[in-house]
Amino acid sequence: MDNRTGLKKTYSAGLFSRVHALFSILKKLPNHISEEELDGLIKVLPEDSANSMKSLLKPAIQQASMPFLHMLSAALDETAAAKEQGRKVVLAPFNFPPEIIHAFDNLVPITTEVLTTLGVVSLEGQGERYWEQAMGLGLPDHLCSANTIDLGSMLSGMDFEPDAIISGCVGSCDVNSKTHEFVSLLLGLPQIALEKPPDNSERGFNYFKNNYIKMIGELEELAGEKLKEEKLRLVAEKVNRCTELYHDLWELKKQVPCPVPGIFSLFVCATRFAMWGRDEGIHTLEACLKVSRQNYESADYKSREERARVLWIYLSYYYDLVKFYDWMEEKNISNMGDALQWAFPEPLDLTSKETILDGMIRSAWNNVMTRQMGAASMSQRWIEDIVYIIREWGVNGTIYCGHHSCKQTWSVFSVTRNEVLKRTGVPTLGLQGDSWIRSMTPMSVIQEEVEQFVNNVINKSNRRRRRRSTG
Ligand code: SF4
Repeated sequence: MDNRTGLKKTYSAGLFSRVHALFSILKKLPNHISEEELDGLIKVLPEDSANSMKSLLKPAIQQASMPFLHMLSAALDETAAAKEQGRKVVLAPFNFPPEIIHAFDNLVPITTEVLTTLGVVSLEGQGERYWEQAMGLGLPDHLCSANTIDLGSMLSGMDFEPDAIISGCVGSCDVNSKTHEFVSLLLGLPQIALEKPPDNSERGFNYFKNNYIKMIGELEELAGEKLKEEKLRLVAEKVNRCTELYHDLWELKKQVPCPVPGIFSLFVCATRFAMWGRDEGIHTLEACLKVSRQNYESADYKSREERARVLWIYLSYYYDLVKFYDWMEEKNISNMGDALQWAFPEPLDLTSKETILDGMIRSAWNNVMTRQMGAASMSQRWIEDIVYIIREWGVNGTIYCGHHSCKQTWSVFSVTRNEVLKRTGVPTLGLQGDSWIRSMTPMSVIQEEVEQFVNNVINKSNRRRRRRSTG
């Protein structure tokens, strides 16, 4: 029953329930399905879901997408079963590393932006109805769709509600932290804030560390259990395996043509956001590595022309996998992924509970977005990361997708673009759009812009460079 209305709640129309229902079917698929079987599956799915499955389950990456779907399915199952098992669900934004929650027996983490993306990728009508529900409540349309879509579903009263919310964006994204704060106040859910100060000195880190330790205390209270060293160590060992695999994939991305399919950046960041430190996360990353190594060793793959190596310097677009990832592949453009994979994880020191926790706190301090947008100087840290990655992976063009709510990245975009060009000679294309809402900028427009950028800017400057070096 809903205490506020006295009505029995039915959750079937909420984003979580719909995604969970679909994944309950997808997880029953065999590990390998033929092209004919895939065609059959696509025919029975609604159009939007079919479009994504066509891309996700294509034979060339199926070895990795199956463990990926199983991993997501496990996260959804655990969330759905939590209440019955007497466990508490903790909702957190994408920049909050989930491994500390996995170390509690009685807690289950779930990530707002992973749920939004799953809704957009797999549901008929994508996340549109939930966005509209949030707008219908009078929320402003300059909020970030990454979190507003899932939270809009929660606010509708038609979806599951977590037991607590971690506000992990305090100090790195006002839009995100305020949206989570609003939902926790409206639904009466405890909010655990983890603030990152804009001070990257040791003093700033110690302040963050104190906040993190305080947060552990609040989680212990919520879970009704103390954080146990034994469980923490088990998770930490798996975190280290995930880190190792992340770096192996990173190294492979240096090869030309890039043997790591573009969509794997989405697999990597979903693993980081939801199942880092879990067997399911390890299986997904191992499978991504296996497919990428097979590509690297295949003569056929190696002979492919690579017209450009493009890096998305913040977000990319997540509402049409076929017209985004597959289209770039067909055009021989290596999609090197976006900033959501720039987690730069380091192995945890397993000596003691304190050393493990210290490493986890440093990972949270250094995680995606917190590291760049929560830095003492947003543009400086962002530029340094972009320049480093351009050099690491031999990137020859970068793209800013211009996600419409991302005011902080917009505010330093010009200086970032100019500085990146000055330091590396690599040009940046600036686009406009919303990464999770297709009606903002049609994918055909994005394709046209990318195509022109590759033809008229990247390839021309490559030709000029070649002429200079041979002339
Ligand atoms: S995309 Fe931009 S506005 Fe949205 S949560 Fe991330 S940093 Fe904040």
